[in-house]
Amino acid sequence: MNLDTLLYKKDFNREELVFLLSLEGEEMKRLLDRALDVKIREIGNEVYLRGLIEYSNRCVKSCLYCGVRSGNEKVVRYTLSDEEVLDCAKKAIDMQYGSLAIQSGERRDMAFTEKITYLLKEIKSLSDGKLGITLSCGEQTEDVYREWFDAGAHRYLLRIESSDEKLYYKIHPNDKTHNFRTRLNALDSLSSIGYQVGTGVMIGLPFQSIENLADDLLFFKDINVAMVGMGPFIPHGDTPLYEYRGLIQDDRTRLNMTLKMIACLRLLMPRINMVAATADQTLSPNGREEAVMAGANVIMPNLTPNKYREEYMIYPNKACVGDKPEECQHCLDNRMKSINHTIGYNKWGDSKAFTN
Ligand code: SF4
Repeated sequence: MNLDTLLYKKDFNREELVFLLSLEGEEMKRLLDRALDVKIREIGNEVYLRGLIEYSNRCVKSCLYCGVRSGNEKVVRYTLSDEEVLDCAKKAIDMQYGSLAIQSGERRDMAFTEKITYLLKEIKSLSDGKLGITLSCGEQTEDVYREWFDAGAHRYLLRIESSDEKLYYKIHPNDKTHNFRTRLNALDSLSSIGYQVGTGVMIGLPFQSIENLADDLLFFKDINVAMVGMGPFIPHGDTPLYEYRGLIQDDRTRLNMTLKMIACLRLLMPRINMVAATADQTLSPNGREEAVMAGANVIMPNLTPNKYREEYMIYPNKACVGDKPEECQHCLDNRMKSINHTIGYNKWGDSKAFTN
């Protein structure tokens, strides 16, 4: 396969993606550089912010990789008060973030779904409609998704974690609560309601092949997502998947694979939004900048009150857990300037692939 020709293609088959994901050294750098060029040409050098609110770590699920899974009794469970959520929203306005992302463990009871509806309406009202809102609250019925859309959420992130059904069941229990088809149907419902839909996968999982990752990229294209959040797998000591940590590659190799996934997806879907995940920075001090230089264009600074952050450890040693929101803002601003990117303050930062 000829790399020069491949880098200028607009569409790729599985074999070509496997080839690109296998690149190393100088050739890998050429892939990342090409993805950066495509990003700048298609959507510019602006990075959009989503102030992250980790609303609650109560969850009905028990995903085998997740530190806040319902089966982990070491976690102290919390749910933010209304006041705490609205304070986070005010901070986002003060810091000109433009958008919020509300993330939570999955609950489907009415007390939870109605509370989210209430909070969405309150945030819309206190910001005069100026804050865009991404939700990431798991699988819900179509009616609930619609209710939240009508209340003001307009983007929804629901990660598939792996688009390969067999691998999905290696990292989730195979039962009614963790059904692969239900997840696919939920993604469908979200699209049909009109959300900008995001999904994503973990990279470097035990049992995951490079072909699985190429298929993940083709899956994103196939369902025509507007945004993608993917990051390296980081094993958590209090989860069942930890037992298989010997099967994964080292931190740098998993981070490099993440960068190649971002770069390939930028070539495949040039105008979508892609997150530079905090997990990237957990594996390397400049991991998020590296992701931005490989084609990512969204960062999610954490607004959750510091006293709760230790309890929202889906994976361990998360970067920036001790940072105050104000410190984050300056730090991010400087970090983006250092790589010739700017921050899109006061913008919703919708996916150009979707708005088109
Ligand atoms: S990954 Fe999400 S749904 Fe799964 S256990 Fe963790 S918080 Fe719950």
